[in-house]
Parts: sequence; C-alpha cells; structure tokens
Amino acid sequence: MSQDKTRQTRAVRAAVHTDTQYGAVMPPLYLSSNFAFEELGKAGPYDYTRTANPTRDALADALAELEGGAGATVTASGMAAIHLACQLLNPGDLIVGPRDCYGGTFRLLTQCAERGLFQVELIDQADAGAVDAAVARGPRMIWVETPTNPLLRLIDLADISARARTCGALLAVDNTFLSPALQRPLEFGADLVVHSTTKYLNGHSDMVGGAVIAGTQELAAEMRYWGNALGLTGSPFDAFLTLRGIRTLYARMRQHEENAMALAATLQGHPAVAQVHYPGLASHPDHALAKRQQSGFGGMLSFELARGEAGVRCLLDAVELYTLAESLGGVESLICHPASMSHATFDAASLTAAGIGPGLLRISVGIESPDDLVQDLQRGLDAAA
Ligand SMILES: *Cc1c(COP(=O)(O)O)cnc(C)c1O
Repeated sequence: MSQDKTRQTRAVRAAVHTDTQYGAVMPPLYLSSNFAFEELGKAGPYDYTRTANPTRDALADALAELEGGAGATVTASGMAAIHLACQLLNPGDLIVGPRDCYGGTFRLLTQCAERGLFQVELIDQADAGAVDAAVARGPRMIWVETPTNPLLRLIDLADISARARTCGALLAVDNTFLSPALQRPLEFGADLVVHSTTKYLNGHSDMVGGAVIAGTQELAAEMRYWGNALGLTGSPFDAFLTLRGIRTLYARMRQHEENAMALAATLQGHPAVAQVHYPGLASHPDHALAKRQQSGFGGMLSFELARGEAGVRCLLDAVELYTLAESLGGVESLICHPASMSHATFDAASLTAAGIGPGLLRISVGIESPDDLVQDLQRGLDAAA
C-alpha cells in the first residue's frame, strides 16, 4: 500500500483485497506445509512453511510497516523472538539488559549466559551512571523494555540509543507493552524491535506468538535466516489471528487508554491506595517523557494497597470484572499480583530491589465499559480499605 496512508489505515487494510485467485476481500489462510515446484529445479515463490508462508508473510509485512522497519520475522512466541534476536550475539559478546526485565527474558538471558553462549549484565537502566559503566564494557547489544513491568517506569529511547551508538552496540527494544500504535522505537534509533504478539497486537488472548522487526534489510535477512535455521517461525493459523487482531489495534488502544485513565483517577483518589503507577498521570515521574516518546499512555497500570497483602485478598474477593491471571493486552481486564505470579521467580531481595511489594497489583485494563470497570474497582478498593 502507498506510504502516504496513515498507520491506522494500513493496520486495518493489511493485505486486504490482495487475493488474485478469487478476489477474496480478506486474505486467505494458507495452512499448507508445502508448496509444489513449478518444474524440476524451479521452486515457486514458496516451498516450505517453516521457511516462508504467505499468511505469515502478510503479517510480517504489516508489522514491519507499523513499526517503520525494513522487514520482520514472525515467531512462535515472544520468547522465540527474543531467542532469535540473541542469535546476533557470539560467545564472549556482552548483552546489557534491565534488572527488572520480563521474567522469561531474565531466564533466557541468564541461563544462556551460564552456558557460555554470551555474557550478560543486568542493570538499572534509569540510572545514567549504571548505563555509562555498562557501555564502557563495550556491549554488542543493549536490551530495553519501556515501560517497565510492573512499575511502569520509562527508559528514554533517544538517550539510550545515542549511548548505544557511542560503543557500536545494537539497540533492541521489547515494545510489547505499548505496540507500534503508541511507540515506535526504530524512530528513536533502535536496530531491532521485539514483540510478544500474544499481547496487544493480537489483542484477544487466543494465541501465543512473537515477532522481530529489523531497521535494516541486512538485519532483517539475518533474522529470517536464523528463524528458518532454528525453526522459530510461527504457525500460519496464529499469523492469521494476529493479522485479524491488528485491524482493530488502534481502536482498541484508544479504549484501553481511556479506561486506564478512568481507573488511574479512581485509584488516585481512594484511601485504600498508597501509590498509583500510570504514566498518564501528571504526578508520574516519567509523565513528560511519556508525552515525548509515546503517542499514548497505554492500558497497563499498577498500584500499591496501603494494607499490603491483606488488602489484596479483600480486593480480589470483591471484584468481578478483573480476572486473576497472567498475561496482558487482551480485550478483557486482568489483574495480577506480581509478587506471587509474574515475578514469583524473584527472591525476596530481588523483589525489594525491584520495588515489588506484597501489596502491589497490576491491571491490564480491558476495553469493557469504563463505567463498569470503575464501579467494580471501586467496590474492590472499598473492601480493601
Ligand atoms: C509476554 C511477554 C514476553 C514473552 O512473550 P510470550 O509470547 O509469552 O513468549 C516478552 N516480553 C514481554 C514484555 C512480555 O509481556
């Protein structure tokens, strides 16, 4: 599609009316694992689905367009995407990541480093001194998550990208929490963007998938090569679902944000709440940065209950619309207790260092009616007071 169209339009119309066989308006789903050769020694555009598949390619092209990248590789999960990006590291290479990264990323980086596949250093990336010290070690890659999980702190992408350039490091950004509708790291100088498409991109909590979007043709080709070589590529059916999901991405993100704003205001005014973490609040320490580098504040928020874990139990017993579950980014609202769920692998000292107390709850705000969500949360907070 011509480049003058907005990203919202391109998301809605990705691969629409491209079927040459029957003129299907929506792109067909090609489940076939293999494709016939045209003649001896002459393959058609596709030969084997692990290597490439038309449905998965349609999604990859759409994701590359939305992130402003040169190409994308669609993987079987977000972790497969992270594993794929790590193929750019050789033994002895250093990757610098955030101390409070996604638990699966923490496990992959530390366990692969233990086996000698590369070296890893995890730091507080909001601390400029710690970033400078890490950059002085000459890393091959800097890994960033912004906003962070579960405290929703932001990393300044333009700043860390400039620091990465001074040492020749590749900058990779996990953009799962905002999606390209609200943040496009390649525009700030990142080399790679990684997604768990399981979350906002698919948006309906009914598949698991991932993607790596590269800023240059060279990196995109290297990611495609390793995706095929290691067998990390995603299934055509999951690509079909995700392609369907991204058509409503912009509309969903607007409603997620409207609802999150309403909940943040409710939380902020309630006596049961000690602290609210939502970058859309003027009181959030990274509010100005959020306005600068994001085109919205997103649908994730967390808060600390004054009564700690006792308050958590009361709130969870009282609410109806917040399902106690891991994951995020779906149409349905979810609530998570990081200390016992998403961050259960952290020991007590790491939890304290990461600022995750027993009274902390995280909400993935869905797209239900904001009135219903506010009323239900209010009931929970009153019970927790
Ligand atoms: C969920 C998630 C992942 C891992 O993705 P999977 O699809 O579960 O493999 C990576 N990073 C972030 C920020 C996530 O939220």
